Amino acid sequence: MNSTTGFTKSASGIIKAIESGSKHLLIRRFTLFYPQKKLKFVGDGYQFDPQKGVGIAGTRGRHILFHEKCTGCQLCAITCEGIAEAIEMVKITESWKQNKKSIMPQIDYGKCVFCGLCVDACPFYALYMTNDYELAAFTKTHLIYTPAQLAVKPQYDGTVEIKIDDRGAYHG
Ligand code: SF4
Ligand code: SF4
Repeated sequence: MNSTTGFTKSASGIIKAIESGSKHLLIRRFTLFYPQKKLKFVGDGYQFDPQKGVGIAGTRGRHILFHEKCTGCQLCAITCEGIAEAIEMVKITESWKQNKKSIMPQIDYGKCVFCGLCVDACPFYALYMTNDYELAAFTKTHLIYTPAQLAVKPQYDGTVEIKIDDRGAYHG
């Protein structure tokens, strides 16, 4: 390679780098100052309709358990056994006529891989996922959600809505 060819290649590399970098000057910033600013998800989390046999797309955050629908059939726990062993069936103090054994799933988010297969396995519309993605805890015990905790509807205090256009995702 002679010196002229080498110079041409270097100059072309520099021009490409400037071109590529300058494109990003015009793109709106995506980084959020978490936790002061949080993502605001719209819509429900992942659900499954057992009658139609179809999943309904949504965020796979932590689950929500509808106690009035759960029969304690354990299908969610049996499904998870081969995946993460994150579900344990535990006794509840409430009594529901559809749940003769008074047992419901408890989920360990230290083990859960958020695959959603337990939601698919539930034949009674009792277990869905939600948009709640803030699950960090200081101890492993705090990652275990009892049936009572799973029944609580997440409070969304997200402040930043994500928008998507032909140049990708951005926030206002
Ligand atoms: S989402 Fe997957 S890993 Fe998590 S509890 Fe359900 S089946 Fe288990
Ligand atoms: S959540 Fe659904 S699959 Fe799990 S025990 Fe309750 S009814 Fe059965």
